[in-house]
Amino acid sequence: MTFFDLVQTSPADRDVRTGHEGPAGRPLLGHHFADALPELSLPWTAAEAPAPQLLALNEDLAGDLGLDPTALRTSAGLGFLVGGNVPDEATPVAQGYAGHQFGGYSPRLGDGRALLLGELTDCDGHLRDLHLKGSGRTPFARGGDGLAAVGPMLREYVMCEAMHALGIPTTRALAVTATGVTVRREVPLPGAVLARVAASHLRVGSFQYARALEEPDHATLRRLADHAIARHYPTLAEIDDDASRHLALYRSVVTAQAGLIARWMLVGFVHGVMNTDNMTISGETIDYGPCAFLDVYDPVTVFSSIDADGRYAYGNQPTIAEWNLARLAEAMLPLLADEQDRAVEIAVEALGGFREQYAVAWSAGVRDKLGIPEASPEETEPLVEDLFTLISGQADHTQLFRALAHGARGDLAPARDQVLDVAGFDAWAQRWLALGPDGDLMDRDNPVYIPRNHLVEEALAAATAGDLTPFERLGEVLARPFEERAGLERYAEPAPDSFGRYTTFCGT
Ligand code: AMP
Ligand code: MG
Repeated sequence: MTFFDLVQTSPADRDVRTGHEGPAGRPLLGHHFADALPELSLPWTAAEAPAPQLLALNEDLAGDLGLDPTALRTSAGLGFLVGGNVPDEATPVAQGYAGHQFGGYSPRLGDGRALLLGELTDCDGHLRDLHLKGSGRTPFARGGDGLAAVGPMLREYVMCEAMHALGIPTTRALAVTATGVTVRREVPLPGAVLARVAASHLRVGSFQYARALEEPDHATLRRLADHAIARHYPTLAEIDDDASRHLALYRSVVTAQAGLIARWMLVGFVHGVMNTDNMTISGETIDYGPCAFLDVYDPVTVFSSIDADGRYAYGNQPTIAEWNLARLAEAMLPLLADEQDRAVEIAVEALGGFREQYAVAWSAGVRDKLGIPEASPEETEPLVEDLFTLISGQADHTQLFRALAHGARGDLAPARDQVLDVAGFDAWAQRWLALGPDGDLMDRDNPVYIPRNHLVEEALAAATAGDLTPFERLGEVLARPFEERAGLERYAEPAPDSFGRYTTFCGT
C-alpha cells in the first residue's frame, strides 16, 4: 500500500460525499485551474526539502479534506506537504497575477514562492485549493529567494486559524513543515513550507493580469470570470447573457468583500497589506503577512513596518476595499458592455453597492456586539458613534465589549475602568442600558481570546528556537475564542507596557 492509498479516508466514504474518486481509490488532486486557465498557470515543481519535519498539522481540516492525519505524518506524507511527493495526476502550477501594491501597479507578480498543488474535494463536496507557500523560487520570483521562514509561516497558521474560530471567512492552514533549509534574512532562520487551503486563490490581481493580456475578445478574462462563477457563485452560471452573468459576479464579489471587511472591523483585525493581489474573489481573508489585532481601539492604528503613510490603517480598510473593488471593475469592464462608457456606468452603479452593504453589515454586527440586535440602526448610530469617540485611544477593543456585557448584567465597573471620561461613560451607559442589552448574547459575539501580539511573538520566538509548546497552547486557546476558561487569564490580558509599540514585518 502506498502513501496515496492511505492519504484519503475510505473511497466508499468519499464516493458518498463527493462523487469524485481518483484511480484505484487514490486522492484526487484536481487540476481544474491549470486546465481552465493555462495563461495564468506555469507548471512548476517544489524545491527539495532536505530534512522535512512537521511543526503543525491541522487534523480537523485534514479530516474535512478526506486526508488521513496518520498518513500525513509519515515521511511520504511530509513529502506531500512540502510538494516533493505529489500524485501522478497532479499538475502543480505557479499562478500568475498582477496587483496594485500600496497603490502602484505591478503588471507581473504571481506566485514567486508558492505553488498551487491542485484542488481537493472536501466533505461538503466543494473544491478547495491545496497550495504551498515557501516551496522555492518560481519564474515569478523576481529578486526573491522563494523561501519562507518558520516564524512567519507559523504566524499565518495561528492567525488564520484564529480568524476561522472567530467565524470570519479565511484561507486555512493545513500544516507547517520545516524544510531543513536555512533562509537568509537579517539573520539566518530555519525555513518552512505552509500548506494552505482556500476556496480558491483567485484574486483581484488575477483579473488585472488576465485583462492585461489584451487578447481578442478578452478570451482569458472571460474564462477566468466563468471559472470564478463555477468555483464561488455557481448559481450565477444559469444566467445566459454573458454581460449580465459577469456583472452578477462582480456584484457578488462586492457583497462578499463588504461583509468580510465589516467582520474585520468588528473584531479589530488589521490586515496590513491590502494590495489588490491580496484580495480574494471568494471573500476569504488571504495572505497573513504583517496583520495584527487592535489592542487599544484607535482608527489610525498601523502595525506594518512598511506602511509608513498608514494607507492600510485599521480605519482605512473599508475605503481601501472599495478602492480595490474599483480596480476589479476596471479589469472587468470589457465583460460588462461593448461600449466603454456604458461599461463604466454599469460598474460605478454596482460598486456603489459596497458602501451601503458595508454599512448594513457593520451596523448589524455592532448591534450584536452591544447586545441590542433588535434596536433600529437609526436609533443606534449616534450611540455607537459616541461610544467609539469615548474609547478611542483608551480602551482595549476586545476587553471593552466583554466588560460591557458585565454592564448589561448590572456591573458597569469593568467597562468604566477602560475609559478616562467616567462621567461621559456613565451618561452613555444609561442611554445604552435603556435599550435592554442582552449580556449573554454579547458573550457569544465578543471574543475573550484573540491572538494578542505579545503572545503571538512569544509563541513564535519559542517555536523558532525549537519549543512548540507555547504555539500549541496558544492555538488551543484561540480555537474557542468566546468561551472564558479558568486559568487562561493571561491570554485575555493586553500586552504589558514593557512590550511597547508593536511593529510587524512582511513575511518574506
Ligand atoms: P505578499 O506581499 O506576500 O503578498 O507577496 C507579494 C509578491 O511578492 C508575490 O508575488 C509573492 O510571490 C512575492 N514574494 C514575496 N516573498 C517572496 C520571496 N521570498 N521569494 C519570491 N517571491 C516572493
Ligand atoms: Mg500576496
